[in-house]
Amino acid sequence: MELPGYLSDILVMKFGGTSVGDHRAIRNVVGIVGEEFLTGRPLVVVASAMSGVTSMLEEAAQKASQGDLQKVHEAAPALRDKHFGAARELLPDPSYAMQLQTEIEPLVAAFVERCQAIRMLGEVTPRVMDSVTSLGERMSVRLLSAVFKAYGFESTWVDADQVIVTDNQFQAAHPDMDATRRQAREVLGPILEEEIIPVVTGFIGADPEGNTTTLGRGGSDYSAAILGAALEAGDVWIWTDVDGVMTADPRIVADPRSIPSLTYREIGELAYFGAKVLHPKSIQPVVETEIGLRIRNTFNPTHPGTRIVGKKYARSRGSILKAVAAVPSQRMVAVEGRGMLGVPGVAARAFQAVADTRTSVSLITQASSEQSICFTVASERADTVLKALEKTFELEIQHRDIDRISAGPEAVVVTVVGAGMRDTPGIAGAVFGALGSAGINVMAIAQGSSDASISLVVRADEAESAVRVLHDLIVAENGLEGALRSKKNPEEGGDG
Ligand code: ASP
Ligand code: MG
Repeated sequence: MELPGYLSDILVMKFGGTSVGDHRAIRNVVGIVGEEFLTGRPLVVVASAMSGVTSMLEEAAQKASQGDLQKVHEAAPALRDKHFGAARELLPDPSYAMQLQTEIEPLVAAFVERCQAIRMLGEVTPRVMDSVTSLGERMSVRLLSAVFKAYGFESTWVDADQVIVTDNQFQAAHPDMDATRRQAREVLGPILEEEIIPVVTGFIGADPEGNTTTLGRGGSDYSAAILGAALEAGDVWIWTDVDGVMTADPRIVADPRSIPSLTYREIGELAYFGAKVLHPKSIQPVVETEIGLRIRNTFNPTHPGTRIVGKKYARSRGSILKAVAAVPSQRMVAVEGRGMLGVPGVAARAFQAVADTRTSVSLITQASSEQSICFTVASERADTVLKALEKTFELEIQHRDIDRISAGPEAVVVTVVGAGMRDTPGIAGAVFGALGSAGINVMAIAQGSSDASISLVVRADEAESAVRVLHDLIVAENGLEGALRSKKNPEEGGDG
């Protein structure tokens, strides 16, 4: 089904868990949605569960499978309090509140019944877990839509199992984009044509048989991107509780700045390296499109946030360096020996041994002399990895072709992110110059596999200074000294 021309500039706005976390937050959402609605743009709202709800549901189901219904008995009234409490503040007209109650109460009852069944069976399968965790979004969209109506906007809630078609990999489902495109147009098209605001559940979909699936924890961003792509939206805005993507982790750097614009490559790189931003998978549906993506702050809506752009829009102004991130609790494993020179297959066997222990490797380096290979793994995996390597290379160790297999001290992988650094002279110089002047020792370096990052390994006790030094460099190089500071808010970091 083709959408009519006047639906060519749809704006998808996704509100995270803290953005719908209580009546105050929801009031901000109403302001934001109302303002966009008045521009005449067709709007699709995607909502997470109220903050804390998904975890509450998940935990209760887990406990129920162990025979314990205590959490279920606590969660049921807590769910009512949360949703009806917000409704009482936001819906002055009792008829709206009553209507909402009749919509949400059956969901609470379904939660209790499913958990009782889980207790009987003594297990919770991924499929049943999805049927429980999906209830949070079903509740929040009913609440949100009722509030929009109370404020005078035509609105209707939509359960995304009618819209997003996925495979049947429960708890981590993948969308079938062709089927989703059809469904999204069929279900949402007529709503939009009537100038009604659909409020769609994030996080959930359904397999071709109609079983509810979820896209994985934090999956509402993914839902928004999937719907944006399916509807060929003009823009997707992710409303969260921070002013966009920050130049560094606020727990380490006292005054991180919001980054005005990032490429898809850069945000992917940052997500891999532990910054609290969009999961790379969640932006995948919009990467190859012209859709404008922004991350904005529900609690500071006048801030422009961060724009995520395709390569061709990447700005040339300012420095290449954009942000710094850190992966803590790593150790560097080294396989060393003079007998490794020119022997093919050593690296393959080393990494096969690591893979067999189901450990993932975060950074790899090898010197061209081929006498050592180093890589980093999570600290708690280091001993297992050492044992596996010693077993694999037993013979080489006996023959003294390999002299040493060892793991270094607690370390942190620090990554500086910025697209184009592989092809820009002086970046590595600036980075290592700054660290050197601060007396910070770099134990290993990896650059080149990605043109958007340089990673380096430093001792754990020097990691925070390393991040700060590099952050100062980024701020200075970008002339961000006087730029907008991020406005902290109490909910920061708690996006459900
Ligand atoms: N409510 C889901 C979660 O907490 C999905 C989301 O918020 O993105 O994981
Ligand atoms: Mg979220």
